[in-house]
Amino acid sequence: MATTFTGEPTLTRIADGVHVYQQPDGGWCLNNAGVLAGGGRTVLVDTAATQERAQQLRTFTVAATGTAPSAIINTHAHGDHTFGNFVFPEALVLAHERTRREAERVGLHLTGLWPDVEWGDIELVLPHLTFTEPLAMSFGELDVELVSFESAHSACDTALWLPRQRVLFAGDLVMSGVTPFLLTGSVAGLRSALIRLGEFGPAVVVPGHGPVGGPELLDEMRDYLDWLTELARVGLAEGLSPLQVARRADLGRFAGLVDSERLAPNLFRAYDEASPDSAGVGVEVDVDEMVAAMVDLHGGMPACHA
Ligand SMILES: [Zn+2]
Repeated sequence: MATTFTGEPTLTRIADGVHVYQQPDGGWCLNNAGVLAGGGRTVLVDTAATQERAQQLRTFTVAATGTAPSAIINTHAHGDHTFGNFVFPEALVLAHERTRREAERVGLHLTGLWPDVEWGDIELVLPHLTFTEPLAMSFGELDVELVSFESAHSACDTALWLPRQRVLFAGDLVMSGVTPFLLTGSVAGLRSALIRLGEFGPAVVVPGHGPVGGPELLDEMRDYLDWLTELARVGLAEGLSPLQVARRADLGRFAGLVDSERLAPNLFRAYDEASPDSAGVGVEVDVDEMVAAMVDLHGGMPACHA
């Protein structure tokens, strides 16, 4: 799964009216966004972390479609996908109700983790319109189905399925060449989300981070979760902490994934779910403790190149 995904951000057309804004190398805060154009209307799937990057997305979008977006769908609350909302003041921002709640709760917290990043003058724009049920949109040749999952990559993630083009925008439910991340989600929730996404039968899968691929990206995510669960099972049996297991783990075929330090917080989630006395999926694990273990494993705060 190792990949060479480098260079400047690009906007790439993957189907009629469907573009992907890709930001190499897909690591911390370098997310993908989607640009959907049909019937004279442009809709974004997520934005970007910084003002400058969101402005570039805006420039690319207007050049490719001739219009500024009239709507933005936020796949989840994380700042790399949402902070750029304010660069599109004419757009109505849509998200699941839980995504809005989480975005409101965490605010601009991410900027404090990486104070040296040039974030710009970010104004937090929360979703204007929220939904709680699956939602469908149609504009021009584009039909879009939105499906949401509780406690998967984050507390709430929404994927977009374009049945005519067989394109899936998976948000951070899928990472490509990049380590999955379950800090505020769950192994079981992500596993069942991946099964549901596979049932769509996508030909193209747009991950939240890393290069666009096909349905094999879903299999690779499931392989990582299987490996993670087995590491947790053995670690629990031997009485080791998640950090101890992460330190000694042989990354094997996952060694090429960007941001491998996410193994530490991911193990906290896997431990929580594998323990006989587990309180269940999506319980509040101490996020600060998980981040501290990740920084410990990495030997310092990992770099953010946004
Ligand atoms: Zn995310």
